[in-house]
Amino acid sequence: MFSEQEFSARLLQWFDQHGRHDLPWQADKSPYFTWISEIMLQQTQVSSVIPYFQRFVERFPNIQVLAAADLDEVLHLWTGLGYYARARNLHKTAQMIHHDYQGQFPQTLDAMQALPGIGRSTAGAILSIACGQRAPILDGNVKRVLARFYAIQSWTGERQTEQALWTKAERLTPHTRVGDYTQAIMDLGATLCKRSRPACLLCPLQAGCAAFKQGLAQHLPVPRPKKERPTRHLHLWLWQNSAGEILLQQRPPSGIWGGLWSLPEEEMAPPTRLKAQALAPIAHSFSHYHLEMTPWLIPHPADPDTRIMEERPSLWYNVHSQAPDIGLPAPVKKLLIHLQSVNGVMA
Ligand code: SF4
Repeated sequence: MFSEQEFSARLLQWFDQHGRHDLPWQADKSPYFTWISEIMLQQTQVSSVIPYFQRFVERFPNIQVLAAADLDEVLHLWTGLGYYARARNLHKTAQMIHHDYQGQFPQTLDAMQALPGIGRSTAGAILSIACGQRAPILDGNVKRVLARFYAIQSWTGERQTEQALWTKAERLTPHTRVGDYTQAIMDLGATLCKRSRPACLLCPLQAGCAAFKQGLAQHLPVPRPKKERPTRHLHLWLWQNSAGEILLQQRPPSGIWGGLWSLPEEEMAPPTRLKAQALAPIAHSFSHYHLEMTPWLIPHPADPDTRIMEERPSLWYNVHSQAPDIGLPAPVKKLLIHLQSVNGVMA
């Protein structure tokens, strides 16, 4: 193991030669661009984030434009990235910064962490990359690098382990070039110290890495203790009016797919009097459970269900016209595209 100074010096030297310097959000290291990229990069890989980031900042080039935007449009540009709470929090935070901070990001860890969707690691990334402040980060990549470097044998999501990792991250963060250091340790985790098959032979930290010395690199960090995810079943009712359009409803603002436009969900299949046609089932997994959905096409309902219509904001969606600017959950979007080829769905 080597000293903290040696750790950061080796990492920075490697970063200068091999780090990623041309990611779209690196062109403008403002708090706004850094924040958008950091939120998108949570649970999503760089290559998937790039086109979303480019479309997003083209439409919302600064915090004022984002704060003034309609949430539906923000969710629409987020469709496919998943974890939609991120988009809702992004919109809420933009409005808070616009109203409470005159459009300028707060510059302290505490104030930044008080904003929706910004945890300690994201706040650290923004403060170090965009403001040059010595603030550590501990995202998934960094947790993996440190768990291996110190050969930590407990699950990194466990409270005590996470606390110990924060202490180490704090000590390792240098006093100079903090923004580069933050980028460097994220890059090392993403390109060399990868989840599977870490490229230890190319790693600048190899000489001090405990996991490498003990032959444990492949086995660390230890996985989260297994917990069976339950499976939930539900039925999606696709009400279709005489023009062939499908009824969509906006989901409540919080919870799964919050604020997105989806199909009415029921515990039961439609009654036979509705002459519903069963479509191919869809499966979707969330972090806490699996969802199995049976879609039912209910054509030309003679008796439109006013209860469903009144429950939430609704709209009639034409599957053949260009998608409107609304956010749709990925499986629902797929189902609506599939409907274009289903007999009985009129153009
Ligand atoms: S030597 Fe291997 S396990 Fe250790 S930090 Fe480098 S890539 Fe990761």
